[in-house]
Parts: sequence; structure tokens; C-alpha cells
Amino acid sequence: MALDINTLQFATLSSRGAYLAVFIVVVLRQRHETYLWHWIASILASVLTSLFMMSGPVDGWMPLSRGLVTYCGFGASLALAWSGLRLFYRRPVASSHLLLLAGLPGILYSGALLVGLSPRIALALVFAPCLLIAVLAVYECLWTRAGDHLWSQYIIVAAMIFYSLSFAASLVILVATDLPMRDEAAARIALAVDLVAGILVHFAFLAMSGERASLRLSRLAQTDPLTGLANRRGLIATMNKAWESKRDGKRVGIIMADIDHFKSINDRFGHPGGDDVLIVFAELFAGTLRREDIAVRWGGKEFLAVLPDIGLEQTLAIAERLRLATASHHFQIAGRIVKVTASIGVAMVELNEVDIEPATRRADAAHYAAKSQGRNRVCQSSPGREAGGRDGVDSAAVAGEPLIA
Ligand code: GH3
Ligand code: MG
Repeated sequence: MALDINTLQFATLSSRGAYLAVFIVVVLRQRHETYLWHWIASILASVLTSLFMMSGPVDGWMPLSRGLVTYCGFGASLALAWSGLRLFYRRPVASSHLLLLAGLPGILYSGALLVGLSPRIALALVFAPCLLIAVLAVYECLWTRAGDHLWSQYIIVAAMIFYSLSFAASLVILVATDLPMRDEAAARIALAVDLVAGILVHFAFLAMSGERASLRLSRLAQTDPLTGLANRRGLIATMNKAWESKRDGKRVGIIMADIDHFKSINDRFGHPGGDDVLIVFAELFAGTLRREDIAVRWGGKEFLAVLPDIGLEQTLAIAERLRLATASHHFQIAGRIVKVTASIGVAMVELNEVDIEPATRRADAAHYAAKSQGRNRVCQSSPGREAGGRDGVDSAAVAGEPLIA
């Protein structure tokens, strides 16, 4: 199947025009997202350069000024795609680097012609910076932190590798062979490569912004906005993803901590004062846990922790550390130091239990026992006993001497 030049040019222009329209609609709702403006400018540069090229012959070596405009246009299109990627990943872009990368293909071409090099070598010098930009774009996508990881970025990687290979092949052909590179057949191949890779890149740009927006939404829905800890939905999501590996045939500890007399803090200092205590307590709570533990804001002033691969003694020790850290911390509300304590329940997920729910209920019952025994203490639930209320709590197993609040 031989694609003719006109069809390929029409397909390239119409697809880029369509992407341009879609990007403009997308950016209207997110004007502050500068990466979208870079990608729009990238498509615009490519459309304008294609139109400029269509105004001249497709074969034969380009004269100096025409080559300068054309290759600067393509350089700008590639460089803006790269800078948009950097901005998308919240990395800085130096305008000098952007200008240099954008201008290099055109400047090298015209510079080479000016100093008397052959047009073949001049064109090879166009592909070298293009190859560099495509490789840089691949690097930007692959150099992402685990939290920034998106599936759609691999479409960009594939498209940019495709671009890189075609630039590298062109460079080698120009330098190492005398195959024709500026005839109609070569132009058809170049247009077809650009059409396919361009569609992939622009489709992936849209997919990336969509994927990240939906990830952000689901993270937001799984996070408590006041403390930044996971909420119940966040815990369920983490457990669904990693419960089996967290469990791994070992025991799991559950800690339920509840701030004592919190209502009176709200009454004395107002809701914002209570919020300040919750924020600091959440920091103490998360700071007492190990890296692999999950900290959750369970309810208003209730916090839950899931501690994988741990025994009862160690779970009790962590709970006691949290109790002491809370009781000894100088909470500050409106410039005043306030004493805050917590009642803590501890339970273990037994090996025969398929999820944490029964142990969570036992830890809850244990924390109620801690409340009824005078607060500011750690209680553990009776091993192996299902607790519907306070009855399942082993009152003999209070860890640590309670401080006098
Ligand atoms: P104890 O558990 O020791 O008996 O304490 P308490 O009697 O003070 O606890 P209670 O359950 O009666 O009151 C909890 C209060 O926590 C009631 C509610 O308004 C408040 N609360 C819940 N969520 C928030 C929040 O996000 N911010 C603030 N400031 N207060 C909250
Ligand atoms: Mg109460």
C-alpha cells in the first residue's frame, strides 16, 4: 500500500488540528497548568511547520533560509513536547535550555550550509539534536517517583523511542551511505513516521492528564483532609491492594487510639483549637508507627493503626510509646499549653481470620475498657475472644502504669 504525500499531509494536519482543538478545550478548565500550554504550543509549531513545508517542494535539499525555518519549527515542536513533560512532572524548565533545543536543528542546518558543508551533512546535523530531545523525553518519563507513576506515560515512551529510532536511522543513512534522503519516497516514510508517532504522543498527553486527574481524585477521596492520614476508604484500598503480602502468614497488630475528653477541648478552645490537637496527635500517632504500618483517621478523634508482621508484645510496646508521647507532649492551642491524653486498645488479627474487621472490633472494645478504667492507658483484648463490647477485654492486661492526667 503506497500512501501518497497529499494523503499523508492531510492526515497529519487534520489529526494535529483535532488534537489542538481538544487541548484548547482541556486547558480552558486548567489555565494554570503550564504544561498544557507547552503541549499546545508544540502542536501549533508542528502544524505551522507542516503548512510551511507544504508551500514548497517535497524533494530536493532545502535552501538555507527555508531549512532554518522548517527545522527550527520541528525543533520547537519536539522541544516543547519535552518541556511540557518536565512541567507535567513538576520539574523546572530553564527557558535558555528550551530555546537552545528548539533552535538547534535549524541553526545547525543553516550553519553547516554557511560554512560550506554538504546538504547531506547539514541534514544529518538536524537529526542529532532531534534524537537528543526524543531521548530526553524518554528519560523524563522513566525518571518518575513511584507515586507519580502513570500507565499512559509508557505510550509516550514508546512513541519517543519510535521517533529516536527513526532519527538515529536517518542520521546513519545520511552519514554512512549514499542512499537518497530527499526524494519523494523518503518524504513519504518521514511523513508516515511523524503521523503515527505524533498521534501516539498527543493521545498519550491527553491520557496522562486524565489519568493523573483521576488518580488525584481517588487519593483525595481516600485521605482525611484535616490530618492527611488515610481515611477508612483509604485503608480499604490499601488492604485490598496489599493485604495478602502484608499478612504473609504472619500476625497483624491493631491499635485503636482515642483522644480523652476531647469534647472539653472543643468546648474550651472552639472547634479550630480541637482541630489543632487532632493534627498534632495524628503526627505523633504516625510518628510512633513503623514505616510499613498503616495509620488511619478512623473517626472524629479515633485513630487506627494496622501493623503487619508483628507480635503482641511489640504492638503493646508501640501503643505504650504512643500513650507516653501523647501524655508528655506540650500541645499548644492559642498560645496555651494543653495536656492531652489518649486511651488505647490493642488486638491481634489471628492467623485464622481472613480480614482485620474482627480484630478492629476487639481493639475498639479494648479502648473502651481503657476509657472505663480511667483513661490514658493501654488495654489489650483477650486473645482468641470475640468482643462485642467491653466484655471481650482482658482487664488484667493493662500495659504500662497510667499517668495522672
Ligand atoms: P471521651 O472519649 O474521653 O469520653 O471524650 P469525649 O466525651 O469528649 O468524647 P465524645 O465522643 O463525647 O466527643 C467527641 C467530640 O469530638 C464530639 C465532636 O464534636 C468532636 N469532633 C469530632 N470530629 C471533630 C473534628 O474533626 N474536629 C473537632 N474540633 N472536633 C471533632
Ligand atoms: Mg465521653
